[in-house]
Amino acid sequence: MSIAVWIEQSNGAAYPSSWEVLGKARDLGDKLNTPVNAIVLGKGAGNVAKAAISYGADKTFIGEDPTLDSFRMDPYAAVVEKVIQDEGVTLFMAVATSRGRDLTSTVAADMGAGIAPDATDLNLDGNKVVATRPTFTGNILADIVFSSELQVVSVRGRSFPKPDPDEARTGEIVNIDPLLSEDEIRTKVVGFEETAKGEVSLNDATIIVSGGRGVKGPEGFKPVRELAKALGAAVGASRAAVDAGWIPYSYQVGQTGKVVRPDLYIACGISGAIQHLAGMRNSKVIVAINKDPEAPIFQVANYGIVEDLFKAVPALTEEVKKRKEMA
Ligand SMILES: Cc1cc2nc3c(=O)[nH]c(=O)nc-3n(C[C@H](O)[C@H](O)[C@H](O)COP(=O)(O)OP(=O)(O)OC[C@H]3O[C@@H](n4cnc5c(N)ncnc54)[C@H](O)[C@@H]3O)c2cc1C
Repeated sequence: MSIAVWIEQSNGAAYPSSWEVLGKARDLGDKLNTPVNAIVLGKGAGNVAKAAISYGADKTFIGEDPTLDSFRMDPYAAVVEKVIQDEGVTLFMAVATSRGRDLTSTVAADMGAGIAPDATDLNLDGNKVVATRPTFTGNILADIVFSSELQVVSVRGRSFPKPDPDEARTGEIVNIDPLLSEDEIRTKVVGFEETAKGEVSLNDATIIVSGGRGVKGPEGFKPVRELAKALGAAVGASRAAVDAGWIPYSYQVGQTGKVVRPDLYIACGISGAIQHLAGMRNSKVIVAINKDPEAPIFQVANYGIVEDLFKAVPALTEEVKKRKEMA
């Protein structure tokens, strides 16, 4: 019996929420008195291996073969499934990013295991896991228990605190060989396109400033971006703004966009449709700026500003800048 966590990384930098999942795995491992393995694959995996130990892994498996350079399902799933088999893993977890969801569902399907996707809490009932996940656009929290021996869970980012790394922790680092040759892999990575440089990623953001149809056009995102910049925040958007072509889909928050959990979410000109709330209602503090006092967003907001966003947002930006200068 053991636990394994896939640590998502790119060029030697781990995806931050992977450490949150590893921290939770450590906590469960301590309660179950079972070892915790980390699996790190791809170019730069070696740079992340030691960090994985400091964040709670007992053993880190690294795979740096060129066939594992970039995330591809065939070679990644093959290696992960081998570790699961060899180490007697009964709980496999990853962050619920697009890749994490793909990998966990493939592993679960290949190995005939149950899966709890997008979990926001994990507890134990005896030595079995109880995974809590939001369902029906976040209106219900369902507790999932597993009838299979292997339990597979993808965990929504920012569901657990990031543990403090303990540089004094020791553990084993094991190199793993790829299981598939290049010829056996059905997909090729032909290139990468980077998103706008210098922007804070929506997934990792502790503060998000989002714009909706109320911004009235692509240029209406300028004050939203300026406030985000002043706060060191990420920019988000409602589907109405995305569908209108004012901002790319990667910025969409909601049921069919990204599900976020920042400390602060500022909704500018967003009405608060249930599908938008599904993506942000678990934010710690919600501020709504809307000129309609009846807008449903005010029902979930901790603070509401009934005002034209083109007045309120620049005023907030100025105030943030002023206070930062004074600090
Ligand atoms: C299957 C399905 C999935 C969906 N998925 C998503 C999703 O993932 N994310 C999502 O966001 N939506 C999603 N939607 C769409 C959702 O139902 C709403 O249509 C959408 O969220 C509305 O976006 P909005 O709030 O920006 O626009 P609106 O509802 O039109 O609201 C605009 C708001 O701006 C305010 N406003 C206007 N001008 C100003 C101003 N100058 N200053 C201040 N306030 C102003 C208005 O009072 C209004 O409240 C989905 C819908 C379906 C059916």
